[in-house]
Amino acid sequence: MLKLDGVTVRFGERAALDAVDLEVAEHETVCVLGPSGSGKSTLLRVVAGLQPVDAGRVLLEGADQGGVPVHRRGVGLMFQDHQLFPQRDVAGNVSFGLRMRGVPRARQAERVEELLELVGLPGAGRRAVAALSGGEQQRVALARALAPSPRLLMLDEPLGQLDRTLRERLVVELRSLFGRLGTTVLAVTHDQGEAFALADRVVVMRDGRIAQTGTPLEVWQRPASEFVARFLGFEN
Ligand code: ATP
Ligand code: MG
Repeated sequence: MLKLDGVTVRFGERAALDAVDLEVAEHETVCVLGPSGSGKSTLLRVVAGLQPVDAGRVLLEGADQGGVPVHRRGVGLMFQDHQLFPQRDVAGNVSFGLRMRGVPRARQAERVEELLELVGLPGAGRRAVAALSGGEQQRVALARALAPSPRLLMLDEPLGQLDRTLRERLVVELRSLFGRLGTTVLAVTHDQGEAFALADRVVVMRDGRIAQTGTPLEVWQRPASEFVARFLGFEN
């Protein structure tokens, strides 16, 4: 449902993405792994329409997204630092994308409650986001990204700021949530344990290129290069 065809993004001399080809199938969860600066966030920003490309094409369900603005792409993006609106309560945060799309108020309220149940925070709509724990805030950010029912959900380090125990629990919950919703997911993580627990397929990036792609087991058992082997080794 997603296809990147020779996508290149340059910042000055340096290519943050260098002729990247990638396909993600409907209902698939793909995790992007790689060192800091390898182009993971840039990849998501390109698909979301937040980053123009210097070459190549992004297609969603076969349609070239060149010139299609962010809010028309039908993708949800949860940022690396989840950036909740501190002055709004939980419901105000979750309903953000619905307000943008002009969904009627009564329907917004219903949808917010539905989503809060989904992420395990039923009835939390009136709570102040500042008073929530880190894990609860991540769940609110996830509910916000899911609110407009995106055809593709992209997560940039969704559990980045949480402690190990909470991450391990949330990964299991996310996996089952995505399975139930049938969401197509493209997620970035530094953490290979997280990627391997969440992903149907992993993509390992290096210097703006895809060093390897395969199922977690394939990549783990048969790293395609010294770089991938070392990267996986260092991370564990
Ligand atoms: P991290 O794991 O640290 O989040 P990343 O893999 O997400 O890293 P990107 O943020 O995609 O990496 O950055 C890829 C490269 O592009 C880096 O060298 C970065 O410095 C550069 N870069 C990203 N955004 C910009 C920008 N707006 N202007 C200039 N250079 C940028
Ligand atoms: Mg990043």
